Amino acid sequence: MTPQRATSTPQYKAYTLANFREIPQLAALSEEQKFAAEVVGSVLPFRTNRYVVEELIDWDAAPDDPIFTLTFPRREMLLPHHFAQMADLIKGQASAAEIRRAADDIREQLNPHPAGQMDNNVPILNGERLSGMQHKYRETVLFFPSQGQTCHAYCTFCFRWPQFVGNRELKFAARQAETLVEYVRTHPEVSDILFTGGDPMIMKSSALASYIEPLLDADLPSLRTIRIGTKSLSYWPFRYLTDPDAGEVLALFERIVKSGRHLAIMAHFNHPRELQTEAVERAVARIRATGAQIRTQSPVLSHINDSSALWAEMWRRQVQLGMIPYYMFVVRDTGAQHYFGVPLERAWEIFRGAYSNVSGLSRTVRGPSMSAHPGKVQVLGVSSVRNQKVFTLRFIQGRDPDWVHRPFFAQYDPEAVWLDDLKPAFGEERFFFEGKATPSRHHAGRHAIRHTRAGRKQVVA
Ligand SMILES: *Cc1c(COP(=O)(O)O)cnc(C)c1O
Ligand code: SF4
Repeated sequence: MTPQRATSTPQYKAYTLANFREIPQLAALSEEQKFAAEVVGSVLPFRTNRYVVEELIDWDAAPDDPIFTLTFPRREMLLPHHFAQMADLIKGQASAAEIRRAADDIREQLNPHPAGQMDNNVPILNGERLSGMQHKYRETVLFFPSQGQTCHAYCTFCFRWPQFVGNRELKFAARQAETLVEYVRTHPEVSDILFTGGDPMIMKSSALASYIEPLLDADLPSLRTIRIGTKSLSYWPFRYLTDPDAGEVLALFERIVKSGRHLAIMAHFNHPRELQTEAVERAVARIRATGAQIRTQSPVLSHINDSSALWAEMWRRQVQLGMIPYYMFVVRDTGAQHYFGVPLERAWEIFRGAYSNVSGLSRTVRGPSMSAHPGKVQVLGVSSVRNQKVFTLRFIQGRDPDWVHRPFFAQYDPEAVWLDDLKPAFGEERFFFEGKATPSRHHAGRHAIRHTRAGRKQVVA
């Protein structure tokens, strides 16, 4: 492990394609490896920062080091023919426009909008599509603040980059905040708002407050929880320690809690090393002192964290710091899936191996879970029913709340990596949630029904 540096004046400094060759530690890499970063970084988003470089990456192990792999593009992340195409253009000194065109073309082939999320779950208010929101599960609205669509560093496995360019104007943001209040007011089934991105914690406290304060000031009795999805504890814990507005951010957290609402920080950690620095330990303590809870989540990723021992260590350390393990995800079918993907059976083995080796306090975690069209589907395991090997699965969240927690079966397939790869077991024609199911009578109102219809159309298509 890299020894911890003194962090007396932690100044945020980003490294991107434009300046990454300045990183002194990069001397450890060959020119070929640096060129590969340039090639792949022209297609996949590339951004890392000084804290990640100095405190998280073990440069003696680079390029195979998991935290190096987490933010630095590597050759294997593109398919060989895509790599060759881009490498030829760069070597041939193609124009910026040509490179951009080729990059767009390759990205289009990498399924940049998995599960059709951006298009399918956009709510409508007074006939207008609310493009900065998603409402898929009855209780929870996802909100994408227009100013939070970037991150302190980019994860190489993430394909949210189509979002990393957005309308960041203040005027747009203010209108967006108003619309959010109005939507929650007219949808009393919504108890949770989840701020997501990008990373909402990239925002200045004043910008964050401009979204959150209208929610606190409005009379919204059904709104019980504000959640913020963030990787800042991993990539920039100084957000809560020494940034000029760190105190203001913590004061805003306190105000949320004092309003009688639950504030849940949904923290994204991929590797135990992200939990080892003094900075992250102090940041976690400060956030918890505001009354907020921190829940943790991560996908299981080949080359980064595909080991039971590693997950067990990560959960134990999270509990030790006062955080609550929440989700283990299956990495979605997009971007460099060929590089990061873990077959479902293997993901379950990793989960089970870790889960069975931690105390009950870590067993708040659920997974491995796929965020697919019809809902969040958990792989409960591989079982044998009358000598037939099957996957047992269940919904943790469903477009139709009535689907939740009903075990169902799929044919065993050692190569399956996603729900789409699975076929119903026992010769059934379709999964129960794909059928002609009439919307459950437990549904409150037409929204759930509309979602159900959309879901059915997708899964049958
Ligand atoms: C995961 C997720 C949520 C939140 O689900 P919880 O199980 O309540 O954490 C909400 N909306 C979408 C689209 C999600 O993927
Ligand atoms: S921090 Fe989150 S949104 Fe940003 S690149 Fe990583 S996974 Fe994607």
